[in-house]
Amino acid sequence: MCNNKPVKTTCPYCGVGCGLECSIAKDGEVVVNGDTEHPANIGKICVKGAALQETVTIEGRLLQPTIAGKDVSWPSAIDAVAISFLDVIKRYGPDAVGFYVSGQLLTEDYYVANKLMKGFVGSNNIDSNSRLCMASTVAGQKQAFGADGVPGCYEDIELADLVIFTGSNAAWCHPVIYQRVVEAKKLKPNLKIVVIDPRKTATCDIADFHLPLKPGSDATLWNGLLNELRSLGYNRENSRFIEEDADAIEWAVSSAPSIKTVAGLCNLKTDDVARFYELFLENQKVVTLFSQGINQSTSGTGKVNAILNCHLYSGRIGKPGMGPFSLTGQPNAMGGREVGALANQLAAHMDITNSEHRKLVKEFWRCKPLVKKPGYTAVDMFKAMADGKIKAVWIMGTNPAVSLPDSSFVKKALKKCPMVVVSDVVKNTDTSRYADIMLPALGWGEKSGTVTNSERCISRQRSFLEKPGQAKADWWIISKVAQKMGHKDAFAYKNEHEIFCEHAQLSGFKNGGQRVFDISGLAQLNTEEYDLLKPIQWPVLTPGVGTKRLYQEGYPRKNGKARLVTVIPQDPKGKINRAYPLLLNSGRVRDQWHTMTRSGNSPRLGRHKPEPYFDIHPDDAKRYGINNGELVKLKSALGHGVFRAVINNNQRVGELFAPMHWSRQFSSNSTVNSLVHPFLDHQSKQPEFKQTPVAIKALTPGWVGVAFCRGDIADKSLLYANRVKVGSNLWRYDLAGKDDFSSWQSVARSLFSNVADSAWLEYIDTGYLAYRGGFMSGDGLGGSLFMAKSRPVCHNGEMAKLFEKAEISNQERGVVLSGGSSQAKMDEGKIVCACFGVGEQKIITAILNGAATNVKEVGRLLKAGTNCGSCIPEIGSLLLENQPSQAVPA
Ligand code: SF4
Repeated sequence: MCNNKPVKTTCPYCGVGCGLECSIAKDGEVVVNGDTEHPANIGKICVKGAALQETVTIEGRLLQPTIAGKDVSWPSAIDAVAISFLDVIKRYGPDAVGFYVSGQLLTEDYYVANKLMKGFVGSNNIDSNSRLCMASTVAGQKQAFGADGVPGCYEDIELADLVIFTGSNAAWCHPVIYQRVVEAKKLKPNLKIVVIDPRKTATCDIADFHLPLKPGSDATLWNGLLNELRSLGYNRENSRFIEEDADAIEWAVSSAPSIKTVAGLCNLKTDDVARFYELFLENQKVVTLFSQGINQSTSGTGKVNAILNCHLYSGRIGKPGMGPFSLTGQPNAMGGREVGALANQLAAHMDITNSEHRKLVKEFWRCKPLVKKPGYTAVDMFKAMADGKIKAVWIMGTNPAVSLPDSSFVKKALKKCPMVVVSDVVKNTDTSRYADIMLPALGWGEKSGTVTNSERCISRQRSFLEKPGQAKADWWIISKVAQKMGHKDAFAYKNEHEIFCEHAQLSGFKNGGQRVFDISGLAQLNTEEYDLLKPIQWPVLTPGVGTKRLYQEGYPRKNGKARLVTVIPQDPKGKINRAYPLLLNSGRVRDQWHTMTRSGNSPRLGRHKPEPYFDIHPDDAKRYGINNGELVKLKSALGHGVFRAVINNNQRVGELFAPMHWSRQFSSNSTVNSLVHPFLDHQSKQPEFKQTPVAIKALTPGWVGVAFCRGDIADKSLLYANRVKVGSNLWRYDLAGKDDFSSWQSVARSLFSNVADSAWLEYIDTGYLAYRGGFMSGDGLGGSLFMAKSRPVCHNGEMAKLFEKAEISNQERGVVLSGGSSQAKMDEGKIVCACFGVGEQKIITAILNGAATNVKEVGRLLKAGTNCGSCIPEIGSLLLENQPSQAVPA
């Protein structure tokens, strides 16, 4: 569909699940705005959502099925997948095949994949990349509540008197939730905000105070709070709804006997811990927002339960303005949980280990008996491939060669697996290099179905773009393969609407109020009603009537009570030692998404953090001889990578932080997860991404350089090569090599050997040891390269303008050799406001000369922060850093 009328859909990035209105302007440009009617965002969007139109490009798309790299027809591809899976099942049994799926899939896709594997292949070997972001929450909620249901809704955040962010940099990772808190604080100045995080993140900008606790000590902090609550008898009025476990209380007392002990174990000031506990005790309306900093741990489930225990014990749950609140990472992580696309769950929130549930699903699907044994979870599935136990895998919409821990091992496992099928939107990913069969899937804007966000809100994703090439919906691809495997009737779906209704029916099938996830009220939607479905929070028992809050009348356990779970605090598995003396925390940046397959296409999003980097405390930088902006090798026992050093006070001494986004498609050797150990939480099987012991060493390159060109460069012999999109199909490369000055000219020529076939313009400065070169493509510019001993300054915007010209003049050739700097443009530093391209230096100058003393004035003067607002925390930090006496951060 392609028209001018805005189509209501949802954002494909984070678990906030913002509603969008998308249309196509007369000039063909996609227009994206926040949907003012969507309850998640009420019109707001962050910079990632605002830049979506830059990502819906045909460039790099997979448009045709391929077998062994050769284009084939859909029937041939479907035959090949079905035959290879049937062959493996016949020879080695159903557990020799696996599906590794993704929170990017729509619920309908997820449902069909899960049905095929669990109901018809006869194995539970299906797991989702959502395992990496929220499995600990699933395990924790099931233990405490008896169901995997987030108790509250976003509105509670605004109704709260105390908001706690723990293990969550929402300002960058869930920006619209953060903005809702900022707005709430403006309307209600007494709202208190606490951030608990080893790092000082952008989220701290609105905090009343920040607890920079020792990594991994969260459970002790929360056990200490439970102990405080116990000593004050907080459970009395709440005992109707909770089942106290004497062990849980005993462990809270013994692991956190006093505030002073807690402070010592968490490396915090006693007064700060006491203040945090007082705030919790003083305020009835408390919302605790938690995310990857809690979940991605070998004791993530325990940490989740330590938080839930405090809310349950004090009765701060199930009512407006209160509750523990898990912020999911992926747009449809919740949908995956609903359909059971995890190796230890059944469909519709039923349990694999429950024989009644297995019988019920078998009866509904009319399939063979379901298997009791849980399948391989994410990390273990790749181990099983390496061990030769899984012989055929189908990877859908995800990039495990970058996103799983010990990514080098994952690549080896993929190489060893005899049959690797990859369904994806893009052609080249680090994972697709190992694919035997590739299947082109529809992307955001092209596909249609439903997703569920962090507050259990089911929303429609609707298509509004033409379907490119031969790309098909994931549910269609899976159904065709299933039919070819002999399951014609069970997968004879004509559209996503039919699948959704079946999913909704199953949720209510013989439910009788036993299972919280029940959307049977949506099971009878006709096509038009499904098309027009408005966002609605499950459970939905009656058409059109959703549920804001769960557990108001009790919990879905036999006695109707939630359980206090025993939490024994555990140290992280990753421990520093003499060889690896620093602890590396990994995470996300504001303007990129996962492995950048989509967000990496946006020049606007590339401006904020254009290169892989790591944050380091000034004391550590001094100790290890690291200079700001220098290239540094980070090394763990498993692998190494090259990252640019950013020195700041945001880390605790001895700890580093690096984002996980960069893959080989963007950077030659900067995949953070190649360093991360695959240590798992024994309950949730979620990996510990946040505590990797590493060593660091500055690189001493023979040269560093910056190149601009439209194609790929030949980067085989480089120490470092990173690319970022800076214009329409134009890439900037930041490079470093070993070679000495005498060979720079030949290195320059060899880097462009695959694209340059015309004469070169060159300037070689033997005094300052600098090389500048460029070559033409017709009368226009084909590429340019600047090499020096220290990093050359090149102005991206000016260079992009030169590349856009069909013909460049002699004068402009001179500009090429000066890196686009002849117009004496101020180097703006890193871009803070990606929407309007406002750099750090411009903002600092405005602050220093008194033109802007608060965020609003920065906005009025430079426009920065006036569109999506994602950069407001950084503008606030610049104000505080550069004019502390007068700055008003918001
Ligand atoms: Fe998308 Fe940003 Fe909303 Fe997340 S907060 S759903 S990334 S617009």
